[in-house]
Amino acid sequence: MLVSDLKWPITAIKLDWIPATTWMGFTPSKDDLLGRNRCTQTVLSQYRNGYVIEYITISLQSPNSGFERDPDYVRGRQIQEAYKGRFTAIHKLKTSSRPLEEIIGEKDFNKLQDVWAKGRKRCRWSVAFPIVESYEIKQKPLVKELLGEGLYKEFIGQTATLRAIDDRVRECLRTLEIEQIAAPNDWIDFEDEIRSASQSFINEGVQRLINRDLVGALEGQAEERKQLLRKRAAWLAEKFISQRRQTSGLKCDDCSFDPTTVLKGAVKPRSLLDVHHKNPLHEGVRKTTLDDFSLLCPTCHRVEHFRLKIGLQQTQ
Ligand SMILES: [Zn+2]
Ligand SMILES: [Zn+2]
Repeated sequence: MLVSDLKWPITAIKLDWIPATTWMGFTPSKDDLLGRNRCTQTVLSQYRNGYVIEYITISLQSPNSGFERDPDYVRGRQIQEAYKGRFTAIHKLKTSSRPLEEIIGEKDFNKLQDVWAKGRKRCRWSVAFPIVESYEIKQKPLVKELLGEGLYKEFIGQTATLRAIDDRVRECLRTLEIEQIAAPNDWIDFEDEIRSASQSFINEGVQRLINRDLVGALEGQAEERKQLLRKRAAWLAEKFISQRRQTSGLKCDDCSFDPTTVLKGAVKPRSLLDVHHKNPLHEGVRKTTLDDFSLLCPTCHRVEHFRLKIGLQQTQ
């Protein structure tokens, strides 16, 4: 695929000395809550929910003394040598930051600070945005050649955050060939959804239906985790219902029963329809999505559950 096939525009450049794989970090000017918030806000305003293109810097900072032969640093140097001056990848960042410590763990975070922190300010890259979608740029072009001297000078320069770009730069990027690669941090979306779900009010009836669908589907998970997964599924089910209400309307997916046609519309359509989880068996292993639900009238819902029961008995 080409850059022009991406769903969103590329909005900013990130300067890195080695390619990012799971997160992009930014260093706040002050290591306190205000400093971190300010850094997050700046990045978000530059990023504007588009994609970030990654540029590998030509120069490389020296690590703190004693770490010149550190294996991670030496490996990083080799990678930087191979890609310096080039665009390497395009990433979609999560629209909220997390403390880097939370993403990579305390041990790795402390190691990073030992190698790179200046003096007592141990907050290098500490405002981190998990990468949730990634594309490798096939040709990895030299940026000076791709953009030309003028744009290169204008957009590639030292910054602790991102460099927002404009249409002149986007035009140069349009025909680059790219390929989607795995983004190991997409689990963070999942965890955030669980968090949102656990803070939301969820209709009891929906929760009950989903709990019934998920019986037996969460084997092997801890009880507390099971509860969170059930709640996330019900939270998604509610999203599914409201999406349906706004698009095709509330009808039974099997027999097309339309509740607005009975009792002269005196009943709320939703109260005559059930939400049903079609593929509950792997919830917890794979992510349930909005496509996993259907709306069924109570009769079709019963039939569906009989069908599942018989199907299960046949495969046992
Ligand atoms: Zn039906
Ligand atoms: Zn069901």
